[in-house]
Amino acid sequence: MRPWRLTKFSYYLDFAIYPALIVALVVLKYEATGLSLAWFQWWAAGFIAWTLIEYWLHRIIFHGGPPVIAKMHVLHHAKPAEFIGVPVWYSLVFFLVFSFPILALLGVDAGVGAIIGLLIGYTLYIGIHDAAHHRTSYLRPWLARFRVNHLRHHYQNAHAGFGVTTDVWDRLFGTKV
Ligand SMILES: [Zn+2]
Ligand SMILES: [Zn+2]
Repeated sequence: MRPWRLTKFSYYLDFAIYPALIVALVVLKYEATGLSLAWFQWWAAGFIAWTLIEYWLHRIIFHGGPPVIAKMHVLHHAKPAEFIGVPVWYSLVFFLVFSFPILALLGVDAGVGAIIGLLIGYTLYIGIHDAAHHRTSYLRPWLARFRVNHLRHHYQNAHAGFGVTTDVWDRLFGTKV
């Protein structure tokens, strides 16, 4: 079985499921307790946490982690234009598993805010990554910066440039490409 080789449909399914999930969570939260400005700080916290997860996930799991996952990433490095990635069902389970300790630790209100931040981070990550490899003719200058950063990781030095949505952690941990 090759779960990492996706059809075009299942690859782009992420781009429908995650925004829909984010909207659904905001609506649920609004219906339950309303929205407050202070609540949005948990979005920011979740988003920042995502960028750190993304960095370490890429650095130690995708590069040199369990063979079943590392193999997927080797394949992606070899064929960056193909639809290779994590199926939506797998990433949903990943976030679901993460959600329990977050909700237990922060409570439902703050926890849902932080989860939304994580999901926004993930959506930006897959969006920027897709743009880097598939939207080459549709790049705005601000997006080109991210693209160059990721392509350097692919073609210049695979031991650096692990951040996709930001290079802040690469700068901090000394892996700026
Ligand atoms: Zn890539
Ligand atoms: Zn990589």
